[in-house]
Amino acid sequence: MTRRAVRVTGTVQGVGFRPFVFGLAKDLGLTGVVGNDARGVFIELQGPSTVIEDFLARLVAEAPPMAVVDAVTADELPVLAGESRFDIVASAESSGATSIPPDTAVCADCLHELRDPADRRQGYAFIACTNCGPRYTITTGLPYDRVNTTMSAFELCPPCRREYEDPSSRRFHAQPTACARCGPRLSMPVDEVVDALRNGLIVAIKGIGGYHLACNAEDPSATAELRNRKGRGAKPFAVMVADLDVARDIAEVSTEDASLLSSAARPIVVLRARDEALSGYVAPGTDTLGVMLPYAPLHSLLFDAGAPRVLVMTSGNLSDEPICTEPDEAEQRLSGIADVFCHHDRTIHVACDDSVVRVEAGQRLPVRRSRGYAPLPVRLLQDSSPLLAVGGELKTTLCVAQGPLAWLSQHVGDTVNLETLAMLSRTADTLLDLQRVDPDAVVSDAHPDYLSTGWASRRAESTGVRHLTVQHHHAHFASLLTERQVPPGEPVLGFIFDGTGYGTDGTIWGGEILLGSYSGVRRIGHLRPISLPGGDAATRHPGRTALAHLYAAGLTWDPDLPSVTTLAPNEVALLGQMLRSGSHCTPTTSMGRLFDAVSSLLGVCQDVDYEAQAAIELEACAMRAGGQHAWTPDVRFEQDVVIIDPSAWLSAAIADGRAGIPVPQSARAFHLGVAAAVARAAEMLANRFEFRRVALSGGVFANTVLASACQNALSRAGLDVLTHRVVPPNDGGLALGQVAVAAAGGAAESVRRR
Ligand code: ZN
Ligand code: ZN
Ligand code: FE
Repeated sequence: MTRRAVRVTGTVQGVGFRPFVFGLAKDLGLTGVVGNDARGVFIELQGPSTVIEDFLARLVAEAPPMAVVDAVTADELPVLAGESRFDIVASAESSGATSIPPDTAVCADCLHELRDPADRRQGYAFIACTNCGPRYTITTGLPYDRVNTTMSAFELCPPCRREYEDPSSRRFHAQPTACARCGPRLSMPVDEVVDALRNGLIVAIKGIGGYHLACNAEDPSATAELRNRKGRGAKPFAVMVADLDVARDIAEVSTEDASLLSSAARPIVVLRARDEALSGYVAPGTDTLGVMLPYAPLHSLLFDAGAPRVLVMTSGNLSDEPICTEPDEAEQRLSGIADVFCHHDRTIHVACDDSVVRVEAGQRLPVRRSRGYAPLPVRLLQDSSPLLAVGGELKTTLCVAQGPLAWLSQHVGDTVNLETLAMLSRTADTLLDLQRVDPDAVVSDAHPDYLSTGWASRRAESTGVRHLTVQHHHAHFASLLTERQVPPGEPVLGFIFDGTGYGTDGTIWGGEILLGSYSGVRRIGHLRPISLPGGDAATRHPGRTALAHLYAAGLTWDPDLPSVTTLAPNEVALLGQMLRSGSHCTPTTSMGRLFDAVSSLLGVCQDVDYEAQAAIELEACAMRAGGQHAWTPDVRFEQDVVIIDPSAWLSAAIADGRAGIPVPQSARAFHLGVAAAVARAAEMLANRFEFRRVALSGGVFANTVLASACQNALSRAGLDVLTHRVVPPNDGGLALGQVAVAAAGGAAESVRRR
């Protein structure tokens, strides 16, 4: 007979861990106790040592689906005489080191009950248990208990309470549990929502993390109307399909895609479209469809009741504003968009958009890490003092760190207006509060004009802590090193390609080759800089960027070029003046802008409605072609810095156009050319510097054609490649990198501007 003190850390509260331990101990005939405390779950076990070993093995192997077990330790205790039972003991006050679980799709057991006419929760839109349902979005504080969730407004009825208090029930301490008698309600019958959708109307539906705007995706006029009312331009909509069979009907679904679609996080998965007509109006110019499966019980009820099998489900917001979460706000802000509103009365405390993931060559590549993943922590390689990092400007997420863990927020959005800045503020407070972190520094991007940088500065000042800044591309680099757990001190070569980032020389970077680690990097190469006239206008009109690139390469603006014909003659003349005089021009090494330029020169995209549209449409073209032909890379050392010179690629784009080469073939040759340049640069640098691994980060690497071509080229050169699997390569991953750099002492003290 032995007695052991067992400690389990990780995401182990609010996930049904205690009843699981209770059941397992009973099953094995062990005695003792289990409870929650500040550090996770503690267990005392008594019985034969072989049986305890068996328990410990099963503790990890059979843990509940929502649990993430970080560590299990077991220490000897003196045997207690006369103990005869196993009990669940009351929670001790909880704090910090334990993590709030993310929201989780309705589980198979609940779905079964939802459809079982004999079950008392049949048809109940808010069915949940310890294995499923909302968590992060309803949590208002710690410890994670019903009083600290928005379910506190609903008093459990006697049958629900019996389940809630019964350790053998699937609803033991399931904080969101309820039934039609005692729980949240919809504002209208499911059948009426279904009728509206079938009649081509646009319905605002309150879900888990906020409102969706829904309509029948297979009704082109409904979809066009939604696009029109939302002022959405060409930006793709995500769709929700009834089941995997429908997904396979409209798109190509690999095994990995299928498991991701059905996973508890239920992200939007970007799939290659099979139904070209559908993708043509849902996601024009992309050949892809962002698809998700039902995750709230309400979604399943809608499809069961005959809703159209493919629904547009787009975030219920106005462009650039955060997602709506409450009825008054939704009715007010979405009144010009939705015909019908389906509300419910469970308060959403934390707004949370859907996550987006792509799969390439069997690997997951996050595009937006939000509902279903946030706020799961990432392990840091170096312990951090308490920190808050606020990301950059676009696709902002926050990161809160303390000790070995960094908790990442949901998607906050583009912090370009006061609404989103207010959401940033709220999210920071929520996350700091939930994880009980009191930061001793606020970390931001080094860009002096980002609203988030100003917010960080004010926050630091008002709370009397330091404001630190991290260079944009160093943060991208460090985010990848962190999630791939690269040890500090190992030098890594990084290709950090994106649209815009503030460089240490005050110019705009975005085609960077960095060597170093968390604490610091050297910029040992970059794309040849160009002078870009009139910043913002250039990102909206790729033709302007193309002309700037031609100018830098010494190529003429022939009147037959698609980039010239798309611009008004006086605009072309003005651009010429600006470039010659250098007025209102910004030097940039942006790789994103190079993709824009080539997209324009090949006549693919001349007007940009959403970030990276020209590059996304160019990638879609490249996907339609095969073959290994690559445009020739021009990579050379200039004063110990590697320069990738795109001039020959611009000539190739013009020549291909004039020769009538099919655009997909040229687009593919460009992608392969960039990959060849990356491999060439890495090989040249490998002769001079010590590194074993090559990191690919920055928003440009959300382009899977480029990312996989780079992987192949680098692998052929004998180098190990690191790509993102946990956080996005785009600016949604910056905050994690900012924390990792700051923890390693690599952040700069901000110089406050007056
Ligand atoms: Zn469930
Ligand atoms: Zn009830
Ligand atoms: Fe970036």
